Amino acid sequence: MKNYTTLLKENSLKSTFQRINILEIIGRQGHSSVDEIYEDIIKLHPSISLATIYKNILLMVEKSVLVEVPIAGKKPKYELAKEDHIHLVCTECGAVEDRPCHSSSDEFFNQLSLSANFKLRRREVNLYGICKECL
Ligand SMILES: [Zn+2]
Ligand SMILES: [Zn+2]
Repeated sequence: MKNYTTLLKENSLKSTFQRINILEIIGRQGHSSVDEIYEDIIKLHPSISLATIYKNILLMVEKSVLVEVPIAGKKPKYELAKEDHIHLVCTECGAVEDRPCHSSSDEFFNQLSLSANFKLRRREVNLYGICKECL
């Protein structure tokens, strides 16, 4: 289990129970929307507001602890910052799965960037479809 207190300190953020709770939920769910985090967190802390959760998430995105995952037509989800990877997004249930970038896809991204005189800095790819649970 990752130590979220250390993770926050490494990114010059104070460790508060709100932040630790948010990180624990995202760590457990993988990719979570603000609403999903809120629904989970109020079970333990009924007085916490949606605005507080939102504010803390944005701050942790700013400090590169979390990464926003934009999802076409839906509210974004948030995940812990990790290596670049590919997302498989289910258009039925909204589930998001991580898959590593493959060397052949990397080669394609590099070629594409090179031919456009584009300096590639980050790969962020969403593939949309239907997950095995929904098929
Ligand atoms: Zn699904
Ligand atoms: Zn992901």
